[in-house]
Amino acid sequence: MYFIANWKMYGDLKSIKSLNKVIKFTRLNKRKKFKIIYCPPYTLLDSFSKKIKKTKIELGAQNCHFEISNGPFTGSISPTMLKKIGSNYVIIGHSENRSTGETNAEVNKKIKSSIKSNLKVIFCIGETLIEKRKKLTNKILYKQILKGLYKIKNLNKILVAYEPIWSIGTGVIPKIDDLDKNVTFIKNVLKKHLKVKNPKVLYGGSVNPKNVENLVSIKAIDGFLVGGASQKAKNFIDIVKKTII
Ligand code: PEP
Repeated sequence: MYFIANWKMYGDLKSIKSLNKVIKFTRLNKRKKFKIIYCPPYTLLDSFSKKIKKTKIELGAQNCHFEISNGPFTGSISPTMLKKIGSNYVIIGHSENRSTGETNAEVNKKIKSSIKSNLKVIFCIGETLIEKRKKLTNKILYKQILKGLYKIKNLNKILVAYEPIWSIGTGVIPKIDDLDKNVTFIKNVLKKHLKVKNPKVLYGGSVNPKNVENLVSIKAIDGFLVGGASQKAKNFIDIVKKTII
């Protein structure tokens, strides 16, 4: 099971305290099978990278530019830069970036460069509330998958995060049956259309220590992408505990 902490635009150097608690938890649970990936803002990648050395925790960034190494792109960070600072993962296609104009084609370019830079990709997809109401969820997911992963070879380096947009930061999670169906649909598209043998699909959207107890009943889910609840060590640890212990 994967547990990904997406800190969004939160956190400063004091936040290392929260990471320390999670490191302690992973040391106490060495034998359990789970993977924690921290995705703090760019400003904390270096200090987090130093802290997690010799731990089971891995580092990820929240976005990157599609240019693989360097270029005249003010304010941007490339996949190579992320790799050099100790990131092994990068989140791409998060709805908070899609909502400000990131297209499926850009997502695809970013994924290609990231894989070339030896990063693994947390590829976010999900429908809006209007699309869900119009029963367009499968169509949207299908399009995001096929366009986002177009001509990508190393699909084993992709973790898909299914994040219904109406669930992010709202406290509302999908009905268990619907979520099960959607995750299974995503896995089937990856298997049938892209020939991925063992696709990994995570769920993200308002996961917290309470609702995770229901979410773990869905066998098809391979982990959780956690936003708000990952910023407090206790909440994040409780989510992991309730899933794996
Ligand atoms: C996210 O931003 O990826 C996310 C899942 O956020 P939250 O858990 O706060 O809904």
